[in-house]
Amino acid sequence: MRGVVMYAPGDVRVVEREDPKIIEPTDAIIRITATCICGSDLWPYRGVEPVDHTLMGHEYVGVVEEIGAAVQTVSVGDFVVGSFAVSDNTCEICRAGYQSRCLHGSFVAGDIGTQAEKARIPYADGTLVATPGQPEMDLVPSLLAASDVLGTGWFAAVAAEAGPGKTVAVVGDGAVGLMGVLAAQQLGAERIIAMSRHADRQGWASQFGATDIVESRGDEGVAAIKELTGGLGAHSVIEAVGTEESMLQAIRSTRPGGHVGYVGVSHDGVTLHANQLFFAEVHLMGGPAPVRRFLPELIDLIWRREIDPGKVFDLTLPLDQAAEGYQAMHERRAIKTLLTL
Ligand SMILES: [Zn+2]
Repeated sequence: MRGVVMYAPGDVRVVEREDPKIIEPTDAIIRITATCICGSDLWPYRGVEPVDHTLMGHEYVGVVEEIGAAVQTVSVGDFVVGSFAVSDNTCEICRAGYQSRCLHGSFVAGDIGTQAEKARIPYADGTLVATPGQPEMDLVPSLLAASDVLGTGWFAAVAAEAGPGKTVAVVGDGAVGLMGVLAAQQLGAERIIAMSRHADRQGWASQFGATDIVESRGDEGVAAIKELTGGLGAHSVIEAVGTEESMLQAIRSTRPGGHVGYVGVSHDGVTLHANQLFFAEVHLMGGPAPVRRFLPELIDLIWRREIDPGKVFDLTLPLDQAAEGYQAMHERRAIKTLLTL
């Protein structure tokens, strides 16, 4: 089969890879219908994270082609959406709703690499969710979004306790930040402030439900949020970047007693000082999103066409042109690239 391998920073190739096979009885092999490039794939692409002949891709939707003997909830022929985190969905941590930290968990990125024609998904019952039937083609991008960016934005909004009567601020105008805006709106937030300096992204944020835009950052950004919230700060702040600057922006934009949901992948060099946390007096919840917790609900919303997160893909390319997809996102010509098979 063909699959994307990142040989080195900036060097993305579509090469022939070995077809996956069932190894454990809990595995499923899926034929991938659509996959995509994640903002987090840009870290190795830019040389910020180590990369060496790495199998790429962790977002996927597809059709089950083969199942192991122990798989019960998905069948051959089912259209499935899977999380970027493998989970059994039965251990105590999973049952508490933190499937991204499953006791038997692993990450699809690296080991499996779903920017490919097929993938072996471990713990198929606990990782995959079948859709009610074969989807209309125009629903595929939205279902694919549920696999990571929507699920991650949704978790951030839930972690930030977005809801009726709340003012939600969103730090980060990438795909996850935009999905955080969508999630906050769906969860009933009264006001949604998108922090963005880019006119095109501001337009997207408004489309997904932002009611206000703040262009400034740092002290000025904090002041702007306070001005919009009676001097208090937002009830709920979504952090979707993963830098020290964005984390502090989020914490400082939150009112005392408020909640920060952080889902930007933190990197070395992000340092938070105890005194900044101590006197902020805010709730912090975040990490790799337990997308599996939200998949049934998100699939249902998409299936009933109540949300259209697939709009976040502004570039669609065949898998063979993956290198151009990476380059377009790296140069910010594209928010998120969908790869078709
Ligand atoms: Zn588990």
